[in-house]
Amino acid sequence: MKIALIAHDGKKADMIHFLSGFKKQLHHAEIDLVATGTTGSHIERAGFKVQKLLSGPLGGDAQIASLAAQKELSMVIFFRDPLDKHPHEPDVQMLMRICDVHNIPLATNPAGAQLMFEQLTSQFDGN
Ligand code: PGA
Repeated sequence: MKIALIAHDGKKADMIHFLSGFKKQLHHAEIDLVATGTTGSHIERAGFKVQKLLSGPLGGDAQIASLAAQKELSMVIFFRDPLDKHPHEPDVQMLMRICDVHNIPLATNPAGAQLMFEQLTSQFDGN
């Protein structure tokens, strides 16, 4: 399964904190991570293997939307910063719309991501 990860700048620390709670599942060979560029660099530095796409403002969100439209994603975790402005807001809206169009699980905050991630990866808990 492939899981997409995106975090706005104000939420990147939250993303790393979130992923750290799922180390065992994330190191399972059957889970592939893909992320927007800067988020991906942070994730790599935290010790996880991740495919990095373009940075969000340069088209990374659009690339993730494309993967979602092609049904290549099992889940999108997108920690948005609701207290900041984003030059690529149209892409942010587009990605969320595409997730809804194709019924891809989408979590936009750690509480939702925790619930979805536990459910999706429970089969990998014991390995
Ligand atoms: P980034 O993009 O991971 O390259 O910072 C995330 C975003 O702002 O959509």
